[in-house]
Amino acid sequence: MSYNVDKSSVFSFALDTGISKDRESSRRYLSNLKGMVADEGALEKMIKKEDTLVYEFYELGVPENPGDLAFGTSICYPGKIGDEFFMTKGHFHGILDIAEVYLCIRGRGLILMENPEGDCTYEVITPGMMVYVPKRYAHRSINIGKEPFVQFFAFRADAGHDYGTIETKGFRKLVVEQNGDFALIDNPKWGKA
Ligand code: ZN
Repeated sequence: MSYNVDKSSVFSFALDTGISKDRESSRRYLSNLKGMVADEGALEKMIKKEDTLVYEFYELGVPENPGDLAFGTSICYPGKIGDEFFMTKGHFHGILDIAEVYLCIRGRGLILMENPEGDCTYEVITPGMMVYVPKRYAHRSINIGKEPFVQFFAFRADAGHDYGTIETKGFRKLVVEQNGDFALIDNPKWGKA
């Protein structure tokens, strides 16, 4: 379903779950994270038991025009693969120089960011807090809480997504559980495809 972005329109999503009845969600399961986690053995074991849903997102289908805004909701479920928290794959924008905003509406999450020059940063957000992801920074959402981490996002509609760089190189940092809280550690597999 596409719509006319030259006219006003209304969309709805539930403020507690992030679910929108206006679209089908795109879903990513444990098996979609193969090759992207620190403990591949733990991942394989989990998949054998059940290929759990890790995250889903509702993109409301704006055409990729530079003057328009793409937006939707993202829902990352609670869980861990080994010590590593459930996370989205993460991406750079195809047009690197485009920023994005993420508004937390439920749960407690961490937005992990890094730029091609190697600067790494992160923000922790809870409902009502919004992260401004600067242009040039890859970004990944990580659920460090116990309930679904739900966010609303918006960015310039022509940004595009470069998933491949993260799929092959990874992020420089991993977010793991340590002593009942989260910790950032160096990713030993970074840069090794
Ligand atoms: Zn993005």
